[in-house]
Amino acid sequence: MSKVRTRFAPSPTGRMHVGNLRSALYEFLIAKHAGGDFMLRIEDTDQERYVEGAVEIIYRTLQETGLVHDEGPDKDGGYGPYVQSERMKTGIYMKYAKELIEKGEAYYCFCDKERLASLKTEVVEGKEITLYDKHCLHLSKEEIEANLAAGKPFVIRQNIPNEGTTTFHDELYGDITVENAELDDMILIKSDGYPTYNFANVVDDHTMNITHVVRGNEYLSSAPKYQRLYDAFGWESPVYIHLPLITDENHKKLSKRSGHSSFEDLLEQGFLSEAVVNYIALLGWSPEDNREIFTLDELIKEFDYHRISKSPAVFDYTKLKWMNGEY
Ligand code: GLU
Ligand code: ZN
Repeated sequence: MSKVRTRFAPSPTGRMHVGNLRSALYEFLIAKHAGGDFMLRIEDTDQERYVEGAVEIIYRTLQETGLVHDEGPDKDGGYGPYVQSERMKTGIYMKYAKELIEKGEAYYCFCDKERLASLKTEVVEGKEITLYDKHCLHLSKEEIEANLAAGKPFVIRQNIPNEGTTTFHDELYGDITVENAELDDMILIKSDGYPTYNFANVVDDHTMNITHVVRGNEYLSSAPKYQRLYDAFGWESPVYIHLPLITDENHKKLSKRSGHSSFEDLLEQGFLSEAVVNYIALLGWSPEDNREIFTLDELIKEFDYHRISKSPAVFDYTKLKWMNGEY
């Protein structure tokens, strides 16, 4: 078997949500448990969502929790993280998008705002998206050439047929099959030339030889589209583990309002970083015995990802307080 390689791939959008920290921790533990490598990749190609200072928060959090990454571009005598806006300068995402166009799995779209505004929309992952009607899939080669030569702005979309189904596999949820008609022709390359994070994510996971991906289950609905990209390229997809949401005591999504949704909130309330890591490790994973207090090294030793659970994880503030007292 090839060496286990995992990555934490945060988008710099604000404080470090405990859900993100849990993904980072599980990725780290999966790699270390297997003697593998853990990478950090900053997914910063979405200029609209970018928040000033968020990258520093990511570094600080990983440093304070001991989730040190193993590999990356040389920087100040150590390893820097992989940064997508830097990787983009090599033309890597455009190159792969063009490969998909050659294969008929993607196409140029020149539709303007007005035309897109007249199309149907749907809310996916909390974001309103346009259900594209494949208008530009039917442009002739000549029309495309002429538009490109005229410098007309374009995006590149994934071409998903309206017929048939797509199946992908998740470690927790098993095989999931969806109707292709339900999948939108998502944008791979935006009009500013940047890749969307969905596309850059797939290209990078493959080119970085990532073997296991842990992330929140809000990405489950995009997973079939990822699978289609892997298949189109003829790449093997990594093992996907989509974690159930962390909720508050009222079974509502853990939000800013709860006051303890981020790592920084918890530190500000006086919790020790070790206690938070220990607590978060148990939010969706359990050891073979009923031990509850673990150092990071002990977690590395015990962490078998097959024991991750798909039942919803409830953030129990009282329990965290108790745990904090044990350190
Ligand atoms: N950039 C995405 C995020 O921060 C990454 C999702 C993933 O881990 O694949 O949510
Ligand atoms: Zn179009």
